Amino acid sequence: MLKNQVAIVTGSTSGIGLGMARSLAQAGAAVVLNGLGDADDIEKTRAALEAETGSTIAYHPANMLQPAEIADMVASTHKTFGRLDILVNNAGVQHVAPVEDFPPEKWDAIIGINLSSAFHSMRAAVPLMKQAGRGRIINLASAHALVASPYKAAYVAAKHGIAGLTKTVALEVATDGITVNAICPGYVLTPLVEGQIPDTAQARGITEEEVKRDVLLAAQPTKEFVTTDQIGALAVFLAGDMSASITGAILPVDGGWTAQ
Ligand code: NAD
Repeated sequence: MLKNQVAIVTGSTSGIGLGMARSLAQAGAAVVLNGLGDADDIEKTRAALEAETGSTIAYHPANMLQPAEIADMVASTHKTFGRLDILVNNAGVQHVAPVEDFPPEKWDAIIGINLSSAFHSMRAAVPLMKQAGRGRIINLASAHALVASPYKAAYVAAKHGIAGLTKTVALEVATDGITVNAICPGYVLTPLVEGQIPDTAQARGITEEEVKRDVLLAAQPTKEFVTTDQIGALAVFLAGDMSASITGAILPVDGGWTAQ
């Protein structure tokens, strides 16, 4: 379905980004991974994904806080592969604190990684996609692009911001064969979340199932975690031709969270 296409997925050394990279590669796209981590571990991940999917998997180490590195990631991908079809802006971090205690440097980092990096990558990629007459941009937002939770000032501001950025760029490139959409996951069972479950169960004296249902998934009516495969499947659909009329859309994948 995506044979001969080339995708960049930022923040794809773990979690949702890695899941989307896998789905895009399984659909036939060559994928450029990006993200932080130990160089040996990243190389193992890259090689394993290549062996598993049969697609070419590369890696670019751009730090999403560095606009010049982001521009280089886009330019060098285009130079190496001769094209850039799909850009997925996924890298993200979180910090939880009341607004009066929120460290300003955490605010800057979250706005930089979760929001500004998508501006810098789109700024670099849009001219290349316009030249090609086609492109697909997918921004990873969150249910927190649509609703708020306390103590997440920077994250919620960044995610609401990425929704506005998505709509704006979608309008600008609507006649260029380029679509720009945002995926808004609810709770996704990444290794980070999985690791918290046994400790929370012990601390509260409840079962692991009760932690999932009554603590983590309190806001999620399905009481089921969203999976990285489900996000990956939507990314593949948005990257394909049948999604040509979906643009500027803010798409919840949240088990009903934001329907409430
Ligand atoms: P994760 O921590 O598993 O992965 C984050 C990725 O971003 C990693 O690859 C990390 O190396 C990379 N990254 C962090 N800082 C970076 C930087 N400065 N430069 C380059 N890469 C950097 O997190 P995740 O849960 O997979 O989250 C991925 C995206 O999905 C984020 O945008 C997050 O806000 C969003 N999201 C997650 C959930 C959830 O429940 N896990 C829900 C909604 C939205």
